[in-house]
Amino acid sequence: MFLLFLSAEIFAQGVAKVSVDTLSTSDKYVKIVIFSDRTWDSLVLPKPKHENSEMYDIDWITTDHNAHRNFDIATLPDTIVLPLIEDSTDFCMPRVGFVFSKYGWRHGRAHTGSDIPLNIGDPVYSAFEGKVRYTGYCGGYGNLVVVRHANGLETYYGHLSKILVRENEPVDVGEVIGLGGSTGRSTGPHLHFETRYKGFPFDPETIVNWKDTTLRCDTLVLPRNKLNSTARYSSSSSSSSASTVETGDGTYHIIRQGDTLSALARKYGTSVSRICSLNNNLTPNTVLQLGRKVRVR
Ligand SMILES: [Zn+2]
Repeated sequence: MFLLFLSAEIFAQGVAKVSVDTLSTSDKYVKIVIFSDRTWDSLVLPKPKHENSEMYDIDWITTDHNAHRNFDIATLPDTIVLPLIEDSTDFCMPRVGFVFSKYGWRHGRAHTGSDIPLNIGDPVYSAFEGKVRYTGYCGGYGNLVVVRHANGLETYYGHLSKILVRENEPVDVGEVIGLGGSTGRSTGPHLHFETRYKGFPFDPETIVNWKDTTLRCDTLVLPRNKLNSTARYSSSSSSSSASTVETGDGTYHIIRQGDTLSALARKYGTSVSRICSLNNNLTPNTVLQLGRKVRVR
């Protein structure tokens, strides 16, 4: 792609010059080409079409990993249809490996992504082209990168040892966005990979086939009820208005005035005894301190 463009540029000038070096600039779409006759020229690469998507304007928040906290899931159609790729080069496995912990319920807690083993320092790749919406250390996720894609899909990359991109930066498919690690609530180095739409997670294996290292479909057709609507209030230091805190690996509730364990059990579809078993120093008779973070799933 680059070479084709370069030769076209030289041909257009009608001069037989040979490029000897290409230098990067602060703008990733502008390169400086040095020619054998010691002249140079700037080369403007075409910006990918995704940079024009309106999805980069709607609810574009870089201070919170979930940009859609007030989004009403009921406003979504019964079936969500998202074009994912035009051809296979539009997708890259974030990591090749097996899913050792799947999306779904795990030990009575919601697990909102797929866990893939890696070694600390292994590159983690953006699954699609897009734009970095959030980077930072975020509760159970540890170091987290969130990339939004032109179709509105967001992909999450958690537990990173190092973040290599910044908010608002465009990323190409397959671009290294960080290095694998074990930060946050993690028992060993792995990638926690999530797919979300309007802030609601759905099973990444709906679209990614880790076994065959392929994308399962060119277009995602997802029933709305496959979105996890209870995981919308995800962990964030800036989410003080939300009493529910969802991390990559569990759900917590911040105790408010009037909260009781039986009310929490009803709200989160669990039991008082199960909530007590998830927390140290918590019994059915414990007086709940305001502001206490109680694990509910
Ligand atoms: Zn995970």
